[in-house]
Amino acid sequence: MSYLRLDNLQCTYDRTVAVRNLNLDVAQGELLALLGPSGCGKSTTLRMVAGFVKPSAGRILFGERDVTHTPPHARDTGMVFQGYALFMHMSVAENVAFGLQMRKVPRSEQAARVKEALRLVQLEHLAERRPAALSGGQQQRVALARALVVQPTVFLLDEPMSNLDARLRMEVRLEIRALQQRLGLTTLLVTHDQEEALTTADRLAVMDHGRVRQIGTPQQVYEQPVDQFVANFIGRCNLVAGRLDGPGVFRAGAHTLPCAPLAATRSPVTEMALMVRPDRIRIAGAGAPGLPARVKLSTYLGGTTEWHCETDLGPITVAQPSTLAHDTALRGLAAGERVSLQWSPEHALALPADAAA
Ligand code: ADP
Ligand code: MG
Repeated sequence: MSYLRLDNLQCTYDRTVAVRNLNLDVAQGELLALLGPSGCGKSTTLRMVAGFVKPSAGRILFGERDVTHTPPHARDTGMVFQGYALFMHMSVAENVAFGLQMRKVPRSEQAARVKEALRLVQLEHLAERRPAALSGGQQQRVALARALVVQPTVFLLDEPMSNLDARLRMEVRLEIRALQQRLGLTTLLVTHDQEEALTTADRLAVMDHGRVRQIGTPQQVYEQPVDQFVANFIGRCNLVAGRLDGPGVFRAGAHTLPCAPLAATRSPVTEMALMVRPDRIRIAGAGAPGLPARVKLSTYLGGTTEWHCETDLGPITVAQPSTLAHDTALRGLAAGERVSLQWSPEHALALPADAAA
């Protein structure tokens, strides 16, 4: 059942339309990631839900409650920002208690709730420290505790991991997800990091220029992107320009390429691109069926190895597990060598540039 609902939400700053006609439903206990390039309206959306920015049109609902005009402190949201915005002159416990004071929670109740919030993020033992005496990861957890202490019904996270180094980010990401699931928090997570969105979210909404291009589970968005923008933004892909000439018939230059018949049911657009993920392409010897190519460069990335190839339809990247590269025809495949690129029709989608255009 949906708990958080954004209904035709719009936000205009001066002349910029930051968010346009946004419709989103987030189920009770669900984590939905808002993903998109810088400036696409993610933070504005979050700030409208928190009540810091007034929508120019549309409604925000928490359950049955219309909170569009409710002030921030009366909304029961807990928010974590990119910069943690901790008060440096206060102790950890005082930082966490701040939201309770703002909400006029009785003093007698405050201590127990602060203690509980610090326990959730495993910082009880540092309650009396100042933030300056904590590591980045610990400061981030104080910010989390400060958001959790108000017992939010909607949890809002705006790029909460972006100040952390890669290793710590992974750790904090898993912690946030575990906590969110354990507490059953209805959550909006803003990120521009596709890996973070794919690994953390129940569903994700890919945004661009103030609108949602696609909403779906990580699998849906990765496997069935609606257009080239989404395909490019989520994971890596090869795009070959051409046109759809009937179900499963994609023509590019002098080639007819294998393509999922499913794609033909989309609205007919002449200018399309065939999208194939690098990990769905096999390299066969020259002369085998497939798209003729020449290897330009191979790069070893540990778990996977990539081959950057040239074809008369443009560059195409192939990625395979490095174990395959050790024991098949791929072994010792050198730059300059001629090969054939193969993929199954179901792994190639004909996509328009913009599904909504
Ligand atoms: P994101 O979080 O996705 O990077 P934002 O929501 O911060 O994007 O911004 C969306 C658009 O609104 C951008 O074009 C940005 O420049 C503009 N914008 C954001 N905040 C303001 C503001 N306070 N005044 C004017 N324009 C703003
Ligand atoms: Mg932002």
